[in-house]
Amino acid sequence: MKIANIVVDVASSAIDSIFDYEIPEELSTIVKPGVRVIIPFGPRKVMGFVVGLSSNSDHNKLKPIESVMDVTPLLTKELISLSKWLQEETLCFRVSALQAMLPAAFKASYEKELWLLDEIDEYPEAWQQVAQGREVFPFEDLEQSTIPVKEVKQMIDQQMVEVKYVVKGKEKVKTNTYIDLNITEQAALETIEDMGKRAKKQTQILEYLIDQDAPVKLNTLLNKMNTTRATVNSLLKKGIVRKEEKEVYRDPFQKKFEKTTPLSLTKQQQEVIQPIHQSIEDEKHQMFLLHGVTGSGKTEVYLQSIQRVLNKEEEAIVLVPEISLTPQMVNRFKSRFGDDVAVLHSGLSVGEKYDEWRKIHRQEVKVVVGARSAVFAPFKKLGIIIIDEEHENTYKQEDYPKYHAREVAKYRGEYHNCPVVLGSATPTLETYARSLKGVYQLLSLSNRVNNRALPDMEIVDMRKELEAGNRSIFSESLTEQINKRLERNEQVVLMLNRRGYSTFVMCRECGETIQCENCDISMTYHQTKNLLKCHYCAAERPMPKQCPSCQSDAIRFFGTGTQKVEEALKVQFEQARVIRMDVDTTSRKGSHEKLLDRFANKEADILLGTQMIAKGLDFENVTLVGVIAADSMLHLPDFRASENSFQLLTQVSGRAGRHELPGEVVIQTYTPEHYSVTLAKDYDYEAFFHKEMQLRKRFGYPPYYFMVLVNINHENHVKVVEVSQQIANILGGNLSKEAILLGPSPSPMLRIKNRYRYQCMIKYKEKREVDLALREVLKHFQKQINQNEIQITIDFEPNYFM
Ligand code: ADP
Ligand code: ZN
Ligand code: ZN
Repeated sequence: MKIANIVVDVASSAIDSIFDYEIPEELSTIVKPGVRVIIPFGPRKVMGFVVGLSSNSDHNKLKPIESVMDVTPLLTKELISLSKWLQEETLCFRVSALQAMLPAAFKASYEKELWLLDEIDEYPEAWQQVAQGREVFPFEDLEQSTIPVKEVKQMIDQQMVEVKYVVKGKEKVKTNTYIDLNITEQAALETIEDMGKRAKKQTQILEYLIDQDAPVKLNTLLNKMNTTRATVNSLLKKGIVRKEEKEVYRDPFQKKFEKTTPLSLTKQQQEVIQPIHQSIEDEKHQMFLLHGVTGSGKTEVYLQSIQRVLNKEEEAIVLVPEISLTPQMVNRFKSRFGDDVAVLHSGLSVGEKYDEWRKIHRQEVKVVVGARSAVFAPFKKLGIIIIDEEHENTYKQEDYPKYHAREVAKYRGEYHNCPVVLGSATPTLETYARSLKGVYQLLSLSNRVNNRALPDMEIVDMRKELEAGNRSIFSESLTEQINKRLERNEQVVLMLNRRGYSTFVMCRECGETIQCENCDISMTYHQTKNLLKCHYCAAERPMPKQCPSCQSDAIRFFGTGTQKVEEALKVQFEQARVIRMDVDTTSRKGSHEKLLDRFANKEADILLGTQMIAKGLDFENVTLVGVIAADSMLHLPDFRASENSFQLLTQVSGRAGRHELPGEVVIQTYTPEHYSVTLAKDYDYEAFFHKEMQLRKRFGYPPYYFMVLVNINHENHVKVVEVSQQIANILGGNLSKEAILLGPSPSPMLRIKNRYRYQCMIKYKEKREVDLALREVLKHFQKQINQNEIQITIDFEPNYFM
């Protein structure tokens, strides 16, 4: 017997194993590892992923597979093994790992249908009304009717009706309608004669089709002939023309890219590209860190490494942070490699993403540029993986599977014997430490191309501004510098880092802040709607006119939002044209690109934005970068706060003076003496690294230890304390002395969505023993987890500790 090993599309620890199904004879040629199938599972039908085939099973009486959803496998053998590795590494469900590798369009949708088994007029009036002549209709229609559940059950028992579960993929291929002659040219000419003057439009269409000698897109035909569908339909009815549907890709770009040719590399670029090329030629896996200051020409190194790979008929993955998937970055790849490039990012619609993915799957492209999940691109002959701005925390996925793209890239690099290049001006401490130890090979670009100077950075102490009586958002110096740019018709980029900043509401009389009712967190003020919103549970409430605690009307919102800065700019720099970029102005599709295009076309003098403008932008006319408040993220309860600040300051200053005109940077801060500020000013990554490493060593943080955060939550406060303590006991009993167990302790945010949250933290050196200990915990609480009583989340190398 032929048997398929199947991962079932149900995310539950009780079902997180592989099930065997019989492959019916008629499906035996198409059921292969990597296809999705529909299988009976208990009373339902569900989707499943075939992950293997076998000829015998430990179970007898296997159920047969019902149908196959894919003609060709979606997943390669490599990706199937990778999903198992992800399951083991991140302790997620296998099905979550498989799903993470595919675009959302492949998620199954489950529908419940009602089938009438008799003639419609055999049914009571009420049933006929719901059915409206249909023999099959959505079960929902029945639920919304007045028919009682009892009656439905009776009908089922009497075998009058049947409830069926249907599973469908959501993927939809887009098609265009084409019209072509359905008769010979000779016959068409005769038809034209016959119709004579009576049907002028119809004869015109036929003449056009004869002329074209190929199918014509319906829309084009209607436009060209200036006619309606009705005319075409009458030709269709007579059988003179025919209609066909042709599959097309949705094109998110809809523009032509100007071809670029490789630049002649600088001496430094030549030096760093050599070992990468060597690794490509030798087909030898190697991890590289390309440490290059902003504007040092890293991208050209990527482009020319990819060219090498393409010359060998192999394929390339380039990961860039979502935030810098700006048209500018995409353009550079599209311009060099043209139609060989697919692009994957969250700004695309589900359909567009599905189409870009299919281009990869069908091997119609050789390069993918994309955000984190593009690391799973189903290429078969990978020749290089590049991760640009490797320090960005978006490379770690916050949902299950909580993987880091760097580790997945390493897995795939080993599998394909190809290099993985991590690029950054400010690598993470972990990565840089590995490169100093020789685990990654370090490649350095210490100068900007053509030795352009890095912009001068001025640090402004905002406490002194206040002392001097300047209550404006802008310091004397920043004001002066902006004015200079306005006079010279140069452009300014202003960044307001909102991370860690909150525009919360506070009473100036009694200090009361407005908290969310479900979560222990201040609500955020949204000016456009004059509403307070909770960013955790999405609860909303109107902005109160009086303090709910003391009834004072001195209730205001605090913190500086981009809107507020924009208003201040308008007051202080009347003639300046400002473009504001933040979540509010970029939520609509394509708006991000439009705003940047306008700025590039010099339709504005100042680009004001959140950290989304810190990265990847390259405008020749920008000569000043201002940071409104550098320390807003310095005070987060996070051991990476200094590192993140240093990275952000370095990145944003890299936006100035990238071309002919020299650049300057002004950084406003309340803590000018902090080393992440002073060392960013000197562009001294090395010094920052060593300073920060000392602190990490002293407090036992990464890269000296690995970390895993275990979060436990439950509706009941007492219960969560009890369970957390039990978990700590189990962990303690299973870990060696080398590992450090911290907790249980309340999470910094004790309550979210009405659930209480506690956590345990493990600092460790040996992952295996931690995995085993955590598996013990999951096993012990499996029942309560499945009943959704308690929730336990496990996050290796967490980005957030809240
Ligand atoms: P990075 O990615 O390191 O920030 P870029 O690749 O954006 O740097 O390069 C900065 C600028 O220098 C770009 O405008 C790029 O076109 C240019 N550039 C890069 N390499 C060369 C080269 N070898 N010769 C001339 N210009 C170059
Ligand atoms: Zn809330
Ligand atoms: Zn008050």
